[in-house]
Amino acid sequence: MSAIQSIRGMYDVLPADAARWQYFEDVMRQVLRQYGYREMRMPIVEVSQLFKRSIGEVTDIVEKEMYTFLDRNEESLTLRPEGTAGCVRAALQHGLLHNQVQRLWYQGPMFRYEKPQKGRNRQFYQVGVEAFGMADSDIDAELILLSARLWRELGIVDDVSLELNTIGSADSRAAFKDALVAYLETVKADLDEDSQKRLYTNPLRILDSKSPKTQALLNDAPAFDDYLDAESRTHFEQLQARLTAAGVTFTLNPRLVRGLDYYSRTVFEWTTEHLGSQATICGGGRYDGLVKQLGNKDVPAVGFALGIDRVILLLETLNKFPETLEQTVDVYWVAAGEGTSERAQQLVESMRTSQPQLRMLMHCGGGSFKSQMKKADKSGARLAVILGEQELAAGQIVVKDLRVGGDQSVISQADLDTMLPPFFVSP
Ligand code: ATP
Ligand code: MG
Repeated sequence: MSAIQSIRGMYDVLPADAARWQYFEDVMRQVLRQYGYREMRMPIVEVSQLFKRSIGEVTDIVEKEMYTFLDRNEESLTLRPEGTAGCVRAALQHGLLHNQVQRLWYQGPMFRYEKPQKGRNRQFYQVGVEAFGMADSDIDAELILLSARLWRELGIVDDVSLELNTIGSADSRAAFKDALVAYLETVKADLDEDSQKRLYTNPLRILDSKSPKTQALLNDAPAFDDYLDAESRTHFEQLQARLTAAGVTFTLNPRLVRGLDYYSRTVFEWTTEHLGSQATICGGGRYDGLVKQLGNKDVPAVGFALGIDRVILLLETLNKFPETLEQTVDVYWVAAGEGTSERAQQLVESMRTSQPQLRMLMHCGGGSFKSQMKKADKSGARLAVILGEQELAAGQIVVKDLRVGGDQSVISQADLDTMLPPFFVSP
């Protein structure tokens, strides 16, 4: 019988990689903290209706990517494909949107039944950042500046670029949609298959079709700019001015529409040239209508979602992880001889209290002095602390530098707790 394997498109993060994820999460958390965003934790499973109503019935996600199942009570549930819907649901349910602004974030696994490939998984991870109750372009700018700061902190700011667009108000979008469909009908036979299907269900998505032929046909399509409402235009101009003043460069991409129904006005994406066709590492925009749609409350909102898997891949590709991540142990404790292990365990516990910053591995399972020293070397620790029968009797301990020259010193056990790192520096 063959051993059971993980599900296609879902992967394990092994310890060496987990250190990299933690590094990313630490940097992320620190940036979010600087801007006063607070963490939310939502369930991974929600009623299916939530996603149908918010993301839109005719989007890729709802049409073909959701993990939906009936629970034992015959209720239709879905593993969340994204976090905004659940975040809005939770904020409404707990009255967080009642006459107040909120700056929230969350992170965790999302699930989409897609074709797995590099940077595209079925269980993948996002950080979502959402701001509620603010309609002006200042908050749109804040979110973009926050993401730009994150790239700077991670050392990849020169490897990503920002694309920006506005998709206006619902009315201006509706008028544009009619004009777009009228034009596309005249060239329908030449459109790619997906776009033909979308013509009457989700025509705006045709704008970001991957087919070069469709893209060429779009050159003669009506321009959204001719339909953009005055207020959205001003909003967009203000946003651009703020970004320019802050030194954030961007490209205007009039074909950027994003896949979900709930966006309005600002949409943006951060892309990179280093990840092939999985180029987008972060996408977001304004979704002023969504809260109303889910909760009958008029609350403007803007947010973005960042694909953690892809950012980690990018950091790996560009070799941007700090080297120190690889070192996980400072001290390896070696105890060989009658009664030494028991005493070593007491000493190491005491030191974990007195010097909590030290990362110490105590050798477990016995074995000769020589075999334990080999393990100490392999562990990557800087120091070995050695307790043999002789040291045990004398109330002493040997400290050996495993890296630089193999220096060795004997110190009193009583001094261990009070010694501050680098306590291995010979007296
Ligand atoms: P794509 O065009 O790559 O399918 P999307 O528009 O479906 O992306 P969003 O719903 O905007 O993606 O999600 C935000 C971010 O989450 C994306 O920019 C990407 O970085 C990441 N992401 C989305 N789907 C996946 C996936 N299947 N695997 C890994 N990361 C993903
Ligand atoms: Mg997608």
